Order: sequence, then C-alpha cells, then structure tokens
Amino acid sequence: MQHHTHPLPSPVPGTHRALDSFHYGPADAEKRIYIQASLHADELPGMLVAWKLKQRLARLEADSSLQARVVLVPVANPIGLDQQLMDTPLGRYDLESVTNFNRGYHDVTDEIAEGLAEALTQDPEHNKAEIRRRFEAALETRQASSSHETLHLMQQRLACNADFILDLHCDFNAVEHLYTTPAAWPDFEPLARYYGAKASMLATDSGGASFDECFTLVWERLRERFGERFPIPYGSQSITLELRGQQDIEHTLAERDANAILNWLTHLGLIDGEAPPLPDLAYPATDLAAMDFLHAPAGGLIVFHREPGRVVEAGELIAEIIDPITDVVHELRAEQRGMFYARTQRRMATAGMIVADVAGHEVRRSGYLLAP
Ligand SMILES: [Zn+2]
Repeated sequence: MQHHTHPLPSPVPGTHRALDSFHYGPADAEKRIYIQASLHADELPGMLVAWKLKQRLARLEADSSLQARVVLVPVANPIGLDQQLMDTPLGRYDLESVTNFNRGYHDVTDEIAEGLAEALTQDPEHNKAEIRRRFEAALETRQASSSHETLHLMQQRLACNADFILDLHCDFNAVEHLYTTPAAWPDFEPLARYYGAKASMLATDSGGASFDECFTLVWERLRERFGERFPIPYGSQSITLELRGQQDIEHTLAERDANAILNWLTHLGLIDGEAPPLPDLAYPATDLAAMDFLHAPAGGLIVFHREPGRVVEAGELIAEIIDPITDVVHELRAEQRGMFYARTQRRMATAGMIVADVAGHEVRRSGYLLAP
C-alpha cells in the first residue's frame, strides 16, 4: 500500500488541508479502479465503507490476490467536512462559492481533441492510451484558483486513468440506489446486483458536470467527434453509488457494501477467487429522465404515508403537506408507477422543494436532470 498526501492550497494563512489517497495492488496492473467517499461531505456512509475497504484491500494485497490497482480516497472533501453551522454539518455546497461540490467539474475535452485526429489509428488500444495520456496532461496543465476548484482538479487527476470510477454518496433518507450511464450499465449491472440496488438510473449527460460524468462525457464527446473515423473505446466507466440515507452508518451495512464492491471485483477477475453467485437485480434499471421529483406545492408540515423502498402505483399517496393555519392539506401522489426510493429528511416543506423521488419508467424530463 502506498499513502499519498496531496496538499490543498491554504485559503487563508495558518490553515492546511490535504487530500489523502491510498493505493493498493500492483502499480503496473492492467486495470485501475478509483473509489472515493463523501464528496458531499455530510454523506458519511461511504466513508465507513472506504475504511472497511482499506483493511480488506491491505489484506488482499498482502496475499497477492489483488490483480488491479485500486486508488481509495476515504475523505474526498476535507473542505466540506469542515463546514459546520450551529451544530449542523453543511457538506453539500461550498459555502464560499455557494455551489454544489458535485457540479461544475473541469471539462478538458477540447484540449484533448486538439490535434487528436493526427494521433489516432485503427487500433482501439492505441487510441485509448493516447487519449488517456492527453487527458492526464490536460488536467496537469489546467490551473485553478479557488480551494474547491483545486480539490476538483486533484480528484480528477487521481481518477482520470481508472477503468472504473466509484463515487460513494448517499441520499437524505433512502434505500440502495445508483446512477450510471447506459454505456456503463453492462459493466456495473453485476455490482448493482451484489449491492442490492432498488433503483438504478441511467443517463449519459444529466447536465451538472458531476464527478462521475466528467470522465465518461469526455470519452462520449470524443467518440462523437472522431468515432466515425477511428475506433475509440470507453476509457473510463463511472458510477455513483447512493449508500441509502445520511443516518445509515452502521458496521453491518458498511460491511455489506464493501463486500458488494469486492465481490464485483472478484466477478471481474480482478481479485483471485470465486465470486458468490449473482443475486437477482432487485429492480430493473430505468432512465434517469423518467425519475420524478415530487415537489411541495406549498409550505407546510410533511407527513409521509409511505416509506422508501416500495413500488408505488400512479396516484398513490406518498405524503401530505399540511398548513396548520389555513387547514389546507396538499396531497403528494406518485405521478406514475415506479420505485419510491428516496425522500427528504426535513418535515417542514418550503414551497417548491423536493419531497420525494420516484424512479419511474415513462420519460417526462429533459435537460438538467439532477437535484440542485
Ligand atoms: Zn451526494
């Protein structure tokens, strides 16, 4: 195992932060995996999973049974982790720029594409290696000024050459679910089974330049620009695993999730041994554009009628929003059949806020597909 500490620029004198990465397995392994946890710094289940993985990976490495290079970043966002206000952790948005930590990653597609046609051949492996080299060089050249843009760059530099990128998040109150791309789904479907994903939502471009898509979209765009003339494989596939809700931090759950990841790596032949039989997929994959956000039509007390983790029918009552002054009661009902997989932790709705998420099957949205 190698432990690297990557210092972040000090935003003010007298403060020091760093990103710590832990590297396991043969440095020259053919396949590389990048796993980070708690990019949204108040989403901590992934941090516990990463801690379990540290120990498991160290043992696998000692036994020489790890055949891939795994880079693990258990604390992906030391900036957000240090944001507390009146006993409340605030790790989703950078308080300095008031932006979501998981949006607006650096896009270096144009730098990679510059002069690329002259360097590509009819050999897909050559093209993959050439693009990876350029990807790394473009990120190395890119400059950032603010702390959170520098943090983004560091994460991108650590992950850009990985075949598989796993970003460990969680929702507010939710069951197991995940986001990935249609192109990556065949690779990640076994992971979804081991993990027990109740909702697996697919989109190529959800519009937020999020961490998972800042790798896959580069390959997608290059395939669009050059794919008719040259064979370009996907150099990276990424997935955002949503490890239930913010309060779901337990040893048994984290061990189950670490096992799911290691079983998947065994299934891929990247860890020696026999992978357990693949369980059935708990719920079919759906289009992210078919996911419905149920918004509060007005402010009021939220009273839920359903728990996440069950299939709801169109019209089924999920929650009421109660105004105790006017006595108006708004009913929030499922707009279509689907998996009700996540809900807010708040119980006082503000008008317009997202109250519940249902993975439906009928596409109703386009453009920006994510929560704020
Ligand atoms: Zn998150």
